[in-house]
Amino acid sequence: MILIDGKKAAAELRGELKLEVSELKEKFNKVPGLTVILIGDLTPSQIYVRNKEKSANEVGLKSEVIKYPDSVDEKTVLEKIAELNRDSSVSGILVQLPLPKHIDKQKVIEAIVPGKDVDGFHPMNVGNLSSGYESSVPCTPLGCYLLIKKIEPNLSGKKAVVIGRSNLNGKPMTQLLLKENCTVTITHSKTKDLKGECLKGDIIVAAVGIPELVKADWIKKDAIVIDVGINKTEKGIVGDVAFEEVSKVAKALTPVPGGVGPMTIACLLKNTIECFKRSQK
Ligand code: NAP
Repeated sequence: MILIDGKKAAAELRGELKLEVSELKEKFNKVPGLTVILIGDLTPSQIYVRNKEKSANEVGLKSEVIKYPDSVDEKTVLEKIAELNRDSSVSGILVQLPLPKHIDKQKVIEAIVPGKDVDGFHPMNVGNLSSGYESSVPCTPLGCYLLIKKIEPNLSGKKAVVIGRSNLNGKPMTQLLLKENCTVTITHSKTKDLKGECLKGDIIVAAVGIPELVKADWIKKDAIVIDVGINKTEKGIVGDVAFEEVSKVAKALTPVPGGVGPMTIACLLKNTIECFKRSQK
């Protein structure tokens, strides 16, 4: 079984991006810039943002974090986004989710110009992705896609099963696999016979949020299994896939932690660089 090492893949990707940033600096005499807006003091969000800033600096991006207290009003945030939209030194804008209840998430997402939407959440980017046009792609599914391609460069004709249909993970993952000419089944909480659907998959991507939902007898021999889930349990952080038993059947499997997670931030840096390049065209 191939243990898909997300930490190693992310480090390799950051190395490639660092090189690309120095080439862009040479060519345009400036570097891509990522601005993150962090609202409130939720510890997980603070940790994510700190890691994003560290990784951005590591590859040579210009990085800025704008912090607001929980009590900030929506208008202030929208005005700041409008200012960042106009700022040519800012290539990518990310508003760390979740937001306090009094701030409308969708309004915030749609306030970011699509060309600077490094999360790929703007409806324009969602539409472009599903139409097969150039777009920012949400970072986690993009990371999953890159990991799958490392194992199997030619995905044409493969049967893929995506578990979960969130806008963040399942839906964009489906679009990426479709673009690669996979035959994709997208499943969710109302799917009948989830096990039967999974057994048909050459590729399984689980993005559910239920600890160890996917068992060994759900997996076709030699399938590639990507585990997006991050679940806190009494025995620590586990994924949506029962790792030990599935590792005996799968051809390749991502661990949790150390699989998809590290790729997410690396893909955010990649998206920032792509936004910069598109803005220079
Ligand atoms: P979400 O928005 O809660 O979506 C979960 C999806 O799973 C929904 O589509 C839901 O179906 C489906 N589902 C729920 N129970 C199911 C069941 N019994 N059988 C089949 N499908 C079921 O979650 P998310 O934001 O996509 O996140 C999923 C997991 O990934 C979480 O553990 C999250 O922490 C993790 N995550 C990891 C990363 C990373 O960087 N590794 C990034 C983001 C999220 P319905 O649509 O029918 O409700």
